[in-house]
Amino acid sequence: MTMKKYEMLIGGAPAAPASCEWFESVNPFTAAPWAMVPRGSKADVDRAVAAARSAFYCGSWRSMTASARGALLRRLADLIAADAARLAEIETRDNGKLLAEMRGQLNYIPQWFYYFGGLADKIEGRVIPIDKPGVFNFTREEPLGVIAAITPWNSPLLLAAWKLAPALAAGNTVVWKPSEFSSVSALEFGELFEKAGFPPGVVNIVTGFGNEVGEPLVTHPDVAKIAFTGGDRTGEYVYQQAARGLKHVTLELGGKSANIVFDDADLDAAVNGVISGIFAATGQTCIAGSRALIHRPIHEKFVDRLLALARTARMGNPLELTTQVGPITTRPQYEKVLDYLRIAKEEGAVCQLGGSPATRPECGSGWFIEPTIFTGVRPDMRIANEEVFGPVLSVIPFADEEEAIRIANGTVYGLAAGVWTTSMRRALVMSERLEAGTVWVNTYRAVSYMSPFGGYKRSGIGRESGMDAISEYLQTKSVWIDISGNTPNPFVMR
Ligand code: NDP
Repeated sequence: MTMKKYEMLIGGAPAAPASCEWFESVNPFTAAPWAMVPRGSKADVDRAVAAARSAFYCGSWRSMTASARGALLRRLADLIAADAARLAEIETRDNGKLLAEMRGQLNYIPQWFYYFGGLADKIEGRVIPIDKPGVFNFTREEPLGVIAAITPWNSPLLLAAWKLAPALAAGNTVVWKPSEFSSVSALEFGELFEKAGFPPGVVNIVTGFGNEVGEPLVTHPDVAKIAFTGGDRTGEYVYQQAARGLKHVTLELGGKSANIVFDDADLDAAVNGVISGIFAATGQTCIAGSRALIHRPIHEKFVDRLLALARTARMGNPLELTTQVGPITTRPQYEKVLDYLRIAKEEGAVCQLGGSPATRPECGSGWFIEPTIFTGVRPDMRIANEEVFGPVLSVIPFADEEEAIRIANGTVYGLAAGVWTTSMRRALVMSERLEAGTVWVNTYRAVSYMSPFGGYKRSGIGRESGMDAISEYLQTKSVWIDISGNTPNPFVMR
C-alpha cells in the first residue's frame, strides 16, 4: 500500500519541508506506518512566522470587521461538523484512541468555533471615568500578534481548537505545531481553513519534532505568545525559552488527579466515575483520575467493585465501536508505562489487576497494557506522585476529610479532582479546599467550551475555554485624549 505523503500549510498553500524529508506516522494498533509527515525545520518555521506576521499586519485579516471574523469561524465550524466522521477516523488511526471517543470529540469541536465566533464582535473596551478634568480616556482590547500553538498527541484536534478558536476570534494569526505522533489530522484539518475563506497566512501548520520545529517557534522573535499543551517538563523548558523573549504563555500541563470517594457516596455512580477517570482513553488524558482516594469504611467493598468492573473492559481495535480500552499511542509512552508498573511493584504497591503488557489476541500487534489497579499505595510513593499517562490506578485509603484533602493536595500538580458524596456540605467544603483548576462532584471528565479549564501549581498557567480564554489572546491599550484645549505646565506630570 502506498502511503499518503502530506504537505504542510504555509501562507495559505501546501508546502513541502525545506529539508525535503518526511517521516512515518505509525498506527498504534497495527504498529505499522500509514502516512508520511513532513519533517519541518527552522527554515519552515521562519517561512510560516513570516506568513503569519504579514497576515497580521497587512491584508484582509487586519481590516476585517470583528463580525466578519466571527462569521469565518462559524463557517469553519460548519465544515468541521460536516467532516467530523472522517477526521475522527484519521485521529484513531494516528493516535489509537477509541473511535467512539474521537467521534465524540470531533462532533463537539465545532462548538468552540461557534462560541468564540460569537464572541469575536463582543470584545469591547471601556470608557474610564478618569479622575483628570479635560481628558477622555478609553481602553481598546487588541490582539497580540502571531501565536504559536503547540499541541500533544492525545487529543490532537480538540486541544488545537481550544487555542485556535479564541486566538482567531481575538484577531491574532497562528502557527500551529502538532505532535510528531499525531500530525495527520492537523494537516487534513488545515484544508478547511481555506475552504472556510480564511485569508492566506492566518493559520499555518508546521509539522516535525519538538527540538526541530517547536523550539525555533518558541524562540522566534516575531512570535508574541506560546499556547502550549504537553508534559510539565517540556512545559517548564518552553516557559524558560519564552521568558527570554518576554513572551506571553498559556501552559496546559500534566496532572495526578485525585478521585475521592466518601462512604456516603452513591457507590454505583462512584465506581463508574473512578473507572471512567482512569481507563477511558487508556488513561492517556491530562485529567486522568489516576489516584482513587477511598474512605476507609468502604475501602475493601469499593476495591472489589472496581476490580469487578475493570475486569469487564473490552480491549482491542480502537476502530471498533465496542472496544473500551485501546492501545498506548506511542512506543516510548508504552515503555514509560511499563517502567512505572515495575517502579510501583518495587515500591511495595500491591497489584490487584493487570500490571503487565496485554497479549490478548484481540490486541493485535499494538502497544497494549492491561488495565491495572494497585492497592496499598502510600502517598509518598512515586506511583502516587508522578504522571503515568496510562491505564494505571493507584488506590489510597483515607480516614477523614482532612486526610483526603492533605493527600489530594500533596502532589506538585493541580489539574483536576473528583469528589463522590451525597453531602452538600462536603461537596462545598471539598470543592473549596482542593487545589485544582477543575473540581467535579459526582461526575468526572466533563469539559465544555463554556467553562474555563486549566491547572493550579505545576499543572499550568492560564485558562482555555469559556470567557476567560479570550483575554489570554488580547492586550489592553489605554488611550488618552486631551479635550481641555489648555496647554499645561510641561514640567509636571499630568
Ligand atoms: P510533550 O510535552 O512531550 O509534547 C507536547 C508538544 O510539545 C509536542 O508537540 C512536542 O513535539 C512539543 N515539544 C517537544 N519539545 C519541545 C520543545 N523543546 N519546544 C517546543 N515544543 C516542544 O507531551 P506529549 O505529546 O507527550 O503529551 C502528553 C502530555 O500532555 C502529558 O503530560 C499530558 O498530561 C499533557 N496534556 C495536558 C493537557 C492539559 O490540558 N492540561 C491535555 C492533554 C495532555 P513532539 O511531539 O514532536 O515531541
